[in-house]
Amino acid sequence: MGQNTKIQWTWRKLPDGSLVAGHSWNPWWGCLKVSEECTHCYAEQGAKRYGFQIWGPEATTERRFFGEHHWQEPYRWNQQAQQQRHRRSVFCASMADVFDEHTAVIAHRQRLWQLVETTPWLNWLLLTKRPQYIREMTPWGQDAWPDNIWIGTSVGRQKRAEERLPHLLAVPALVHFVSVEPQLELVNLRPYLSRLQWVICGGESGPRARPFDLAWARDVREQCLAYNVAYFFKQVGGRYHHSGGRLLDGRTWDEMPPEFPG
Ligand code: SF4
Repeated sequence: MGQNTKIQWTWRKLPDGSLVAGHSWNPWWGCLKVSEECTHCYAEQGAKRYGFQIWGPEATTERRFFGEHHWQEPYRWNQQAQQQRHRRSVFCASMADVFDEHTAVIAHRQRLWQLVETTPWLNWLLLTKRPQYIREMTPWGQDAWPDNIWIGTSVGRQKRAEERLPHLLAVPALVHFVSVEPQLELVNLRPYLSRLQWVICGGESGPRARPFDLAWARDVREQCLAYNVAYFFKQVGGRYHHSGGRLLDGRTWDEMPPEFPG
């Protein structure tokens, strides 16, 4: 599904100071849980509400795929961005993991890479919990990565940072980012921060949201300030997405990586 998104970390600022919403787009729906950040996966819950049983291993589950109209949407956004002479961000994928091991997605992932290459006015924000597969599942060598991919991984716990960030940072993308969300404990990013451009941080939301200590978010913020890395505080979390609000120590933290040329 593609749409203008309320996900604020995909918004971008125009030269006149106004904000434009980014887009959210999925090459398919469905996934398999891989770690503790996935426990209350909102995408799985959303798919179930639509009646799709598409979360699980290949032996027992399919994925949901889309037709031509859906695949044409990003071309329209690319054209709009080009006319406006200002890049737009696309969060891909909110209802899947682009580096899913399911063999049914292989052809769709290859089509995604063609789409990325032919939409240079879009910043493709790929957030994965499987960064160990990025290099083998993408067609570009060390010197030929497109400038319009921002590659990110989620690290809710310290051990996930240590497992995932070396894989992420081995990818020659222009922008590397990390989502410390849902943050489940203190996370030390210092060994990696000199090579990261952006850190997003937040607590969990939903009826079974796990505890979140603002001291953890402050600690990540102080690390980012020390290393001059853009820090985005997404939410406190709680029963609902908006329950705890977006303030940390009385203000919002909405820093973004600098605007890179395409
Ligand atoms: S990797 Fe993402 S989409 Fe897949 S189960 Fe985990 S949280 Fe959900």
